[in-house]
Amino acid sequence: MSQRDYYEILGVPRNASQDEIKSAFRKLARQYHPDVSQEPDAEEKFKEINEAYGVLSDPQKRARYDQFGAAGLGDMGGFHDYTVDFGDLFEGLFESFGFSTGRRTRRTPRRGRDIQYQVELTFEEAVFGVEKEVEITRDEVCSRCGGNGAEPGTSPQRCSTCGGQGEVRQVRQTFLGAVVQTGVCPTCNGRGETIPTVCKTCRGSGLERKTVRKKVSIPAGVTDGNQVRLPGEGQPGTLGGPNGDVYLLLSVRPHKFFKRRDDDILLNLDINVTQAVLGAEVEVPTVDGTAKLTIPPGTQPGRVFTLKERGVPHLRRNGRGDQLVIVNVEIPTKLSKEQRELFEKLATTMGTSARPKEKGFLEWLGDALGGS
Ligand SMILES: [Zn+2]
Ligand SMILES: [Zn+2]
Repeated sequence: MSQRDYYEILGVPRNASQDEIKSAFRKLARQYHPDVSQEPDAEEKFKEINEAYGVLSDPQKRARYDQFGAAGLGDMGGFHDYTVDFGDLFEGLFESFGFSTGRRTRRTPRRGRDIQYQVELTFEEAVFGVEKEVEITRDEVCSRCGGNGAEPGTSPQRCSTCGGQGEVRQVRQTFLGAVVQTGVCPTCNGRGETIPTVCKTCRGSGLERKTVRKKVSIPAGVTDGNQVRLPGEGQPGTLGGPNGDVYLLLSVRPHKFFKRRDDDILLNLDINVTQAVLGAEVEVPTVDGTAKLTIPPGTQPGRVFTLKERGVPHLRRNGRGDQLVIVNVEIPTKLSKEQRELFEKLATTMGTSARPKEKGFLEWLGDALGGS
């Protein structure tokens, strides 16, 4: 395994995006590919670049590498067990050599790509769960040709360049002598067959773009950023490889007055001065409908009342969170003549002193909510 830093090898910053990494790799790989480069250490360099790309292009491996360095990759391996699509990277480059991609045979089964969609939920849908219909657009076997890429009534022919092997061998004269190279057949791209009359629908790819609708049940208690996986609903695998998956990334719309803190629901409630002073029975909204709340006499602003089990159902286990009602006491800014007279009368009984408070309101609120 290489001792040099993978980011250094590719010449990208540590926060480089996948696109930046791919484009840096593409550039370096073209420069150092042993079939192209004149530099004496090209082979070594090319290996190093591959190794770095194999790790940094895989988000999971990259995360481990960032955290633990090369040692952290352990049996995830830094080399050889990744699938770089050289076909993509070198498209157009090797055709001039009569080879498309010598290093990876196209005949190995490959897993289809994953597809991600965003699904928007209301606050209540996230709390109680919901059945959603999602549209998935993906490639499927072409309905016109059945996937072989040939126009109905015709059929694919064995490739005459490679005799159906999908590979060709070429002897090249180098300064080291004759070198035999095996490469993917340039005529059939490794498929071993060619299609004399291509299917009108899929133009020979054997695949057709289709949109399917799926009912998905979103469980109760999900939260913004959660993902729901639909196994096997992604892009089809090739040559018998498994399909990719669909991931639904959930985004939850904010509610007019409910907020979530994990599985608890927070609600700010305004009460008036007399309710705070004298106490009151009030109705408060919950996700289950209204609930009665007793405000005891002398309730201070910022006091938190707990409505047990009126919060969000726990995801994948029993029980629910609570609803926390945070009381705010509204100080009236407009008074009727009568109210004003009553307040003035009250004022004469309350004294005129003011005193410093030991704890600020925000600190106190923080304590009441458990320090967060
Ligand atoms: Zn077709
Ligand atoms: Zn061929």
